[in-house]
Amino acid sequence: MEYKSGLAFAQQLDHQDELKSYKSQFSHPTQENGNPYIYLCGNSLGLMPTSTPDAVKVELEDWAKYGVEGHLEARNPWVSYHELLTDKMAKVVGAKPNEVVVMNSLTVNIHLLMVSFYRPTAQRYKILMEYSPFPSDRYAFESQVRFHGYDPKEAIIEMMPNEGESTISLESIRETIEKHGDEIALILFGGVNYYTGQAYDLAKITEYGHRKGCVVGFDLAHAAGNLKLRLHEDGPDFAAWCSYKYLNSGPGSLSGIFVHERHARDFDLPRFAGWWGHDKHERFLMSDDFKPMPGAEGWQLSNPPILSMAAIKASLEIFDEVGMDKLVEKSKNLTSYCEYLLHELDTDRIKIITPSDPAQRGCQLSLSVKGADKSLFNQISVAGVIADWREPDVIRIAPVPLYNSYEDVYRFVEVLKDQLVRP
Ligand SMILES: *Cc1c(COP(=O)(O)O)cnc(C)c1O
Repeated sequence: MEYKSGLAFAQQLDHQDELKSYKSQFSHPTQENGNPYIYLCGNSLGLMPTSTPDAVKVELEDWAKYGVEGHLEARNPWVSYHELLTDKMAKVVGAKPNEVVVMNSLTVNIHLLMVSFYRPTAQRYKILMEYSPFPSDRYAFESQVRFHGYDPKEAIIEMMPNEGESTISLESIRETIEKHGDEIALILFGGVNYYTGQAYDLAKITEYGHRKGCVVGFDLAHAAGNLKLRLHEDGPDFAAWCSYKYLNSGPGSLSGIFVHERHARDFDLPRFAGWWGHDKHERFLMSDDFKPMPGAEGWQLSNPPILSMAAIKASLEIFDEVGMDKLVEKSKNLTSYCEYLLHELDTDRIKIITPSDPAQRGCQLSLSVKGADKSLFNQISVAGVIADWREPDVIRIAPVPLYNSYEDVYRFVEVLKDQLVRP
């Protein structure tokens, strides 16, 4: 698309936007003066759909009305509540329903999946991870490695970015897997790096890894609801993601997991078990022998928090209505428009460290601002923008196609201009 400068052009794009009506289906935080903030932080915590309070209230009412009988009598019976989320969540990540379940929090799930899929041997014990993963992932990987009696310094290979860049080329990933593959037990990458916003080629990484006999998994925290994913087709062994970032399901909300169909009946895989993973037809017989369900559901441990699931249900209904194709189409335009306006700024202080190739990013742009410290970020906040600051000098912004407008992006760049160019 050809972009132009000026507010009128932004408003014209909004006018033509097929998804424009969704902005009002979300609650936008407001400033003290009563104006809404320009919210560009959906990569950290997505906004609340206005349908969420009612969805949660239904479960509170049924709890009040039925008590324990709600497990079977509630309008959405709690005993099978997670099943209400499965089909829609599977669509969001391009999986088959039996490959997906919603359970626990993300880091918990990374650990549980590593119990099954990180099976080091004396010859093959290493983990290959992306450069600078989200800290929780690093802690999880290192503690798993130690748990198996290895030294993280030796057992973890961290991909390094290309010389003078912040991102990792697919070619260097291929070379690393080629070179170290025989020693790598598990490749565990992000889908989109939280810091740089770089999106990785899941299909290719999976192919390279499998060719060398490695197990391949992904942490899709910044990819689910952001990229068009095709997990079944791309074929990684497993994945996990949270639902509170692009999936707008509320602070600390539950995580989704994917276990590829090829492992659905791998009952010999070691796993940490709990009663919710037991064959659901026999669960309440309370038998002594654990009999896991086939598919992703067999990894569940506990009966899930219904109030959190109600929020996920409300959010997934919106995703189901819009579909990832339309979301991604708008996302590409919105983010390219933001990139265009940033390039138009007359300053050499801003460097976009996110790849400019739309195939290698989602909606997030990470801006490294020369000579900036957190005071720049604070000034932007005072001027009505909620973004995200990462030391030493990076502002992360995520124009989210569901609830951000072209005008939001325009106004954000104007605020930045006021701080960096105009004085
Ligand atoms: C947000 C995020 C997490 C957070 O984990 P929780 O267990 O939900 O607190 C973990 N890993 C990645 C890559 C993330 O982006």
